[in-house]
This record gives sequence, C-alpha cells and structure tokens, in this order.
Amino acid sequence: MVEISDYVHNKKEEVKGFISSLNKNSKKNLKIVIVQVNDDEASNSYIKGKIKDLCELGISHQLLKLKKDISENALFEIIDQLNKDESVTGFIVQLPLPPQIDENKVKRMIDPKKDLDGFNPLSPFLSATPKGILTFLKDNRYVMVGKNAVIIGRSDIVGKPMAKALLNENMNVTILHSYTTKEDRKFYLEHADLIIVAVGKPYFIKKDEYKFKKDAVIIDVGINRVNGHLIGDCEPDLGVYFQSPVPRGVGLLTRLALILNLLEAYKNYGF
Ligand code: NAP
Repeated sequence: MVEISDYVHNKKEEVKGFISSLNKNSKKNLKIVIVQVNDDEASNSYIKGKIKDLCELGISHQLLKLKKDISENALFEIIDQLNKDESVTGFIVQLPLPPQIDENKVKRMIDPKKDLDGFNPLSPFLSATPKGILTFLKDNRYVMVGKNAVIIGRSDIVGKPMAKALLNENMNVTILHSYTTKEDRKFYLEHADLIIVAVGKPYFIKKDEYKFKKDAVIIDVGINRVNGHLIGDCEPDLGVYFQSPVPRGVGLLTRLALILNLLEAYKNYGF
C-alpha cells in the first residue's frame, strides 16, 4: 500500500487536470456549498481543511455560516433553496446541529442528487469517510472478496455505511460496539484481515493486547485531541502489514472523497 498522503496528492493532481479543463470548456462549472450551523472547534477545523482543498483544486465554493439559534424552518428554507439552485452541484450540512434542529429531518430534506455526504437514505453517494477508505483500498488493488473485515463502531456516518460497502465487495463483515465483550473483541480482531476502528477513544487498540494477522490491514478512523495533539484510536506500529496513520490518514481520504462525490454529482446529474 502507498502512503496515504502520497496517494491523496496524486489523486488530487488527476482531479486538478479534470477541473481545469472543465473550467475552460464547459458552460457550467462545479459549485459546492458548505452549510455550518455551529461554532464547534472540530467542525471549524474540518471545514478549513475542506476549503483548503477546494481552493487548491480551483472549485467554486461557498461557506454559509448560519447563526446557532437559527430556527428549524429557516434552515429548511435554506436547504430548499440549495436543492432548487441550478448553479449548486452539491452541498453538505456540517454536523453537529444545534438542539432545536432535528438532524433526521435535515438529512431527509437534502435532495439525494446533491447530498454529497450521503445523509439522505435515498442518496446515491456513499458518505465521505467510508467512500475515502473504500476508494483507497480499491486503488491499491487490495483484494477484498471472501476476506474477514471487522469494524469497531456502528455510527451512521462511519461504521454502518462502511459495513454495507464492504459487504457489497463480498467481504465477511462483523461490526463490534460498546456491548461487545473484551474476549469477543480479541477473537474477532485476531481473525481479521481488514480492521476499521471508529470508536473515538485514544489508543483504544493496544499492541500488547492482540496477536494480529501479520498481513492484516488496519484503518484507524479515530481522531482524538490529547494535550494539543491529534492521536488515533490505535497505538502506532501495531506490527501489521499496513496501518493508516493519524493525523494524515483517514482525514485526508475523507476530504478527497467529498471532492470525488462532487465530481460524481456533476457527471451523473449535470448540475
Ligand atoms: P460515534 O458516533 O461516537 O460512534 C462511536 C462508536 O464506537 C459507537 O458505535 C460505540 O458503540 C463504539 N464504541 C464506544 N466504546 C466502545 C467500546 N468500548 N468497544 C467497542 N465499541 C465502542 O463516532 P463516529 O462519528 O463514528 O466517529 C468515531 C471516531 O472517528 C471519532 O474519533 C471521530 O472523530 C472520528 N472520525 C474521523 C473522521 C475522519 O475523517 N478521519 C470522520 C468521521 C469520524 P455503541 O454504538 O454501542 O455506543
């Protein structure tokens, strides 16, 4: 497997070429809108990263930073306008949302064709983190058919869509969660070929607790801020064939996947 940062760099170069020819030759350009209804420190940093990529790739974008006390109806009105606006290729609503807003209603309101985060159950897009991981594995010609995948975490944005995506690749998929016993976790992890960890607990997976398969691949989704540093859910150097680093691992893949979904929206629906 190649280093994730090199992989993302090369993939972005490909995208850059496509965008620059599109900007020269097409009547209609790509445009993404990011809706933010919080002033959350982590969200600010994720959005900063996304905007950096969009600037680098020459993609037209707009950040709609809304007041935290906006009413649910006012937000729905904005989503409705974005759904109808033909100059907008796709958009995302950054989570978390303030308590007066029903997240599920928001997810169902986004036009599936513009739903770049794959929130709407009818969206054709795989949400960004699983999409980034899957694309990375496929581009590295990682053979998935018939192998054992273990995912720790069952969130709607990572664990569940990741499981579905890997099932679609004909892997044997097991999801572990907070009710899984330590003994079972050890059993499943030691039989796994591919391990995806999305728990949100610093160094939850420790080297001296498991005998991983030597050729296992571990993808560490976790981002934990500890004493001003970002660390993953896994201790570094678990002694497997490939382990994604934190930082400069899944975060980069997730950012890339948003761009890939935007290109897909443009190609498939021509907005
Ligand atoms: P989440 O919604 O908080 O879900 C965490 C999952 O971990 C839950 O399913 C929970 O199980 C499970 N869990 C908690 N304690 C556990 C334990 N002791 N054993 C087994 N499972 C346990 O988290 P998320 O949104 O999926 O995010 C997970 C991590 O990934 C966070 O650190 C987040 O910041 C990071 N993240 C990174 C990116 C990126 O781009 N790199 C993207 C998304 C998320 P229950 O369901 O039983 O409670």
